[in-house]
Amino acid sequence: MNISRRAVLKLSSALAGLLLTSQAVASDEKKTVKKTPKKEEAFIPKAKGPRVVVVGGGWSGLSVAKNLKIFAPKADIVLVEQKDIFFSCPVSNLWFVDKVDLDFLTHDFLQAARYGNYLYFHATATGVDKKNNILHTSRGDIGYDYLVLAPGIDYDYSCWNADEVLENRLRMEYPAGMKPSSEHITIKNKVQNFKGGNFIITVPSGNYRCLPAPYERACIIADFIKEKKIKGKVIVLDENNDITIKPKGFHTAFKELYKDIIVWEPSTQIEKIDLDKKVVTTEFEEYAFEDAIFYPHVRGAKILEIAGVAKDSVFNKLEGDINQFTYEVNGHPNIYISGDARPMGFSKSGNTSNTEGAIVAKRIAAKINKEKDPEWDSPTTLCISEVGVYPERGIFITTQYKYVKAEKTFDFDKVFSDENWKGQPGLDKGENVYGWATSLYIDMFGIDKG
Ligand SMILES: Cc1cc2nc3c(=O)[nH]c(=O)nc-3n(C[C@H](O)[C@H](O)[C@H](O)COP(=O)(O)OP(=O)(O)OC[C@H]3O[C@@H](n4cnc5c(N)ncnc54)[C@H](O)[C@@H]3O)c2cc1C
Repeated sequence: MNISRRAVLKLSSALAGLLLTSQAVASDEKKTVKKTPKKEEAFIPKAKGPRVVVVGGGWSGLSVAKNLKIFAPKADIVLVEQKDIFFSCPVSNLWFVDKVDLDFLTHDFLQAARYGNYLYFHATATGVDKKNNILHTSRGDIGYDYLVLAPGIDYDYSCWNADEVLENRLRMEYPAGMKPSSEHITIKNKVQNFKGGNFIITVPSGNYRCLPAPYERACIIADFIKEKKIKGKVIVLDENNDITIKPKGFHTAFKELYKDIIVWEPSTQIEKIDLDKKVVTTEFEEYAFEDAIFYPHVRGAKILEIAGVAKDSVFNKLEGDINQFTYEVNGHPNIYISGDARPMGFSKSGNTSNTEGAIVAKRIAAKINKEKDPEWDSPTTLCISEVGVYPERGIFITTQYKYVKAEKTFDFDKVFSDENWKGQPGLDKGENVYGWATSLYIDMFGIDKG
């Protein structure tokens, strides 16, 4: 085929045009690729007053948000919480054996926010730009005047030298049940389907979340085993040399109520966990198990580390790096850390976190209202544990804290406890736990579901 010179010229100019256009497109694309994408802003109303963003809708964050609106009504409060339902760890041990139903434990963040007159923003906090006062979240950025981090705890499996496989198997197959709520559902199924053999419960050292919870669990599972006439034992492998709280009450319950069921092994370091053979090896013994709850050490929740506000404390790794009297992050006085993520040796409990939330709210409100800094105030720990469920029998402690200068640490103060569970069954301290929980649910959510 003959192609005329004219046709060739036409074709080459068309090709040149095409080439130029595609180069232009490519260079435009490069420009777009090079451009730093503008960070998305969270789709929330503009702040009408000083904005306080609270990360974590647990026992502390809910209390900070609600109380702040009371103490500083002009504050504009946003609560950032990654979950869409509140599940109560307190009282969950009783749910394992059907003493309460799920409705008692679960609550509604929307209700809490309507009641407290703040905004609930369902998202995960992913980072903090401390220089520009911006919280990054999975649903966009939020600028703040004050930021409160109340994200609770995470687990630290390094205590057992667990590699990725073991750690993930432990998390999935033998969860600690110290963070809500799938873990608790797994544990409930374990308890309800237990057919016999050894049920291992581990107790970590350090200032772990809810000191009495593993001992209370041991008692409740032991009572369930007794009631259902299951041939089983509860083996408590405790890293501590004594029961860490309400020792008299738990010791007497172990000895007198569950002599043939609970085996309590103090000062026990686990050296190996073999999940295929279902054997735990300690310094001195091997324990075969049918089922287990492996509770590792605790650390501050991951967001503290990501935000660069975490530091090893005397007790645990990566807890809040704060001034222990004001709750302000060191070097960043407009950021606060509250609840179980704190580094002080207060009992990591819901009551402590809730009362502390009000204290932190007061401190921030004083700044917003341009008032004098409040005096240091102690949070209050109030803790009722059940040592039996058939019938219910309880023990109890309440304490505040004081600073011991010589030791540069906080200690219990004004302690009142009653560890005698032998009172009239059912009518004594045991059932008071429901009243206590209900009053705190009302405090945080504003309704009495009962
Ligand atoms: C079995 C058990 C029994 C207990 N019994 C009692 C009891 O009887 N009495 C008592 O006083 N206490 C009890 N506790 C302890 C109590 O549950 C905790 O101390 C309390 O929950 C601590 O409150 P917090 O607000 O610090 O943390 P949490 O309640 O854990 O709240 C932290 C919140 O932060 C959210 N969060 C974390 N990271 C992010 C992020 N990056 N972005 C968004 N959200 C985030 C989490 O989803 C969570 O909702 C018990 C605990 C357990 C496990």
